[in-house]
Amino acid sequence: MRIIDPRPAGSLRFMAGVYFESEHLRGIMANEKLSFTLTTSTPQSADETTPRGALQKEKVIIIGSGPAGLTAALYTARAQLHPLVIAGHELGGQVSLTYEIENYPGFPEPMTGQELVERMKSQAERFGARINLFSAVTEVDFSRQGGPFYLKTDDGNEYEAEAVIVSAGATHRHLNVPGEKEYTGNGVSYCATCDGFFFRDKEVVVVGGGDSALEEALFLTRFARRVSIVHRRDELRAGKTLQKRAFANDKIEFIWNTVVESVNGERNVQSVTLRDVLTDEIREFATDGVFIFVGHDPNSDIYAGQLERDAFGYVITDREMRTSVEGVFAAGEIQDRLFRQVGTSVGQGTAAAMSCERWLAEREAEREDERETELAASQETPVAG
Ligand SMILES: Cc1cc2nc3c(=O)[nH]c(=O)nc-3n(C[C@H](O)[C@H](O)[C@H](O)COP(=O)(O)OP(=O)(O)OC[C@H]3O[C@@H](n4cnc5c(N)ncnc54)[C@H](O)[C@@H]3O)c2cc1C
Repeated sequence: MRIIDPRPAGSLRFMAGVYFESEHLRGIMANEKLSFTLTTSTPQSADETTPRGALQKEKVIIIGSGPAGLTAALYTARAQLHPLVIAGHELGGQVSLTYEIENYPGFPEPMTGQELVERMKSQAERFGARINLFSAVTEVDFSRQGGPFYLKTDDGNEYEAEAVIVSAGATHRHLNVPGEKEYTGNGVSYCATCDGFFFRDKEVVVVGGGDSALEEALFLTRFARRVSIVHRRDELRAGKTLQKRAFANDKIEFIWNTVVESVNGERNVQSVTLRDVLTDEIREFATDGVFIFVGHDPNSDIYAGQLERDAFGYVITDREMRTSVEGVFAAGEIQDRLFRQVGTSVGQGTAAAMSCERWLAEREAEREDERETELAASQETPVAG
């Protein structure tokens, strides 16, 4: 894997510190199967040679580097649109947090989420996609139907794009209980792949009852002595196969109809306070770590007032992945509340890229027609008399 850091070489030490501070990237960097070359100041893409502050013009900008964004990058790159992907701070998105993917077609043996991301990324790059790592879009102006569109990133760069594909995905929810924020990184985690290793022979609590909670709980049994799944209902939302595996695992126990009221400890997590939702009984439950998997929200705040969104904040698209603004397309979990899988995100990324390509081509053809009409009009010989 090659990480391009557009910052000056002097900032490498600082940046390396940042990489390892991020629980997400620590997981990626710890993967023995991936090798890294940290490249500083390597002019790889136009943006890296453009002075900060100058408006950089692009044909297609893709926001996000999850399965939807990397697929859109592959398709638009193969269509010779030379896309620029603004990766955000989580290269690969949620899938890179997943230890094993067993349900992505074409890979009968389970593979790690990080391997899948690396494959998607290098495939897109092979066809000319440029990927700006470690920068995120902070501001957009989509007010002109048909574009051009303005984007600003947190590294101070500004862009103008003819078309945009928004694939900024979703982010895990918090419990919002006392101690959660305080102990994040000291026992509270949202990524078993990243942090499971630190809980070798320890006892951990997993909060949630969906696919992610069970997948991650199963993964944690590789390290932890005991995994207690705290779920607020008396049945799981997770798929039946996962349920079967979790029920059959000796290391996993379930605490039903229960919610976490607080996370407690001194420097690290030592316990959680649990409340039985049926009896309101409160009890202290000793644990070394808390892994939270209680759902996701779309990363769509910066599009408020710019793109139409539903009541839950998901960007609204039609079947062709078109948003309410002509020239702006959306794909993946930022617009999909229902399916939320790698396979569906890849499909939506494909559709968004194909629609985007078609829209640009049609618009180019229309402009060509207009130019020809204007030229013909200017060449018409005026009738004498
Ligand atoms: C723990 C876990 C286990 C899972 N297991 C499976 C599984 O086994 N099989 C399966 O099919 N699915 C699984 N999923 C779901 C799957 O990972 C998601 O459906 C998929 O990753 C969604 O892809 P996406 O591209 O839409 O968004 P995401 O994966 O959420 O990616 C979003 C991208 O947008 C970027 N971004 C966000 N904000 C900005 C911004 N402002 N500027 C620029 N970039 C931005 C992020 O950095 C990221 O790269 C799992 C998810 C989790 C959390």
